[in-house]
Amino acid sequence: MNILKTTTLGLALAGSLAFSGAAQAETFITIGTGGQTGVYYQVGGSICRLVNRGSSEHDIKCTHTTGGSVANINGIRAGDLDMGVAQSDWQYHAYNGTAPDTFPDGKFEELRAVFSVHPEPFTVVARADSGIETFDDLKGKRVNLGNPGSGARATFEVVMDKMGWSTDDFALAAELKSAEQAAALCDNKIDAIVFTVGHPAGTIKEATTSCESKLITVDNDVIRKLVDDNAFYAMATIPGGMYTGTDEDTTTFGVGATFVSSSNTSPEVIYEVTKAVFENFDRFKKMHPAFANLNEADMIKNNLSAPLHEGAVKYYKERGWM
Ligand code: GLU
Repeated sequence: MNILKTTTLGLALAGSLAFSGAAQAETFITIGTGGQTGVYYQVGGSICRLVNRGSSEHDIKCTHTTGGSVANINGIRAGDLDMGVAQSDWQYHAYNGTAPDTFPDGKFEELRAVFSVHPEPFTVVARADSGIETFDDLKGKRVNLGNPGSGARATFEVVMDKMGWSTDDFALAAELKSAEQAAALCDNKIDAIVFTVGHPAGTIKEATTSCESKLITVDNDVIRKLVDDNAFYAMATIPGGMYTGTDEDTTTFGVGATFVSSSNTSPEVIYEVTKAVFENFDRFKKMHPAFANLNEADMIKNNLSAPLHEGAVKYYKERGWM
């Protein structure tokens, strides 16, 4: 009996020592990304892989989650996430407090930019049998708006407002996550997908190869005015031939994906994460085809409206980029 007690106590003590030793040595970080078949998930996964390769030197261990831009920014603000991927329009609005419907808590002054990533065109895919030929034809159809928390959904709401549409103008206004939308399209539960995403994206490949569907041009006076009025939007092109069923270039508008954090996340951690990406930049660019055209000079300045994080600045200065 006594022996057993001593042994149990001894084990418990050894266990807690081992645990506290590990807790002191390791820093766990979480990156907010997007649905598994989008590109954000690949951004977070790729960054985590590069960070985790260097864990023996810096003791940082990285994991990633799946919410989308708005959820990521809110998660960073709440301290649940250390960093995340976010569309440039929502980075701008979060920092400046200019979208109270999306960010009711007002200006997120601690928001910090780390670098920008790939371009994200506002992408509309319609079933070939849906009768949708132009963007205006979406009215009256069954459309996936995207899940609340995604930047894509929030951007579509901005566009809907400018088009004078409400959810009542659609035969069905679905709120599916990006990972569910291709199956819904090809099961004929919806006529079209609207998703702001980098290309090529798994979800768009799935939607255009599992059934007959095509990309729709998004270019009219409302869109042109939106782009003219807001520096974080630009006209964009999705190259013809990238997806089955769409051989011509598709004109639309878009934003940029960016990597953001908070001034509450330690400069040492951001320095190591930034370093892991740029010291292994060729490897990073090969991790997803949407990263192939990235270059360092653009990534540290384009599409960033919040101030750069001091940990990132330290690395950029070391490289002589600033
Ligand atoms: N831009 C989308 C969003 O913020 C996510 C795109 C992706 O998952 O790659 O919700």
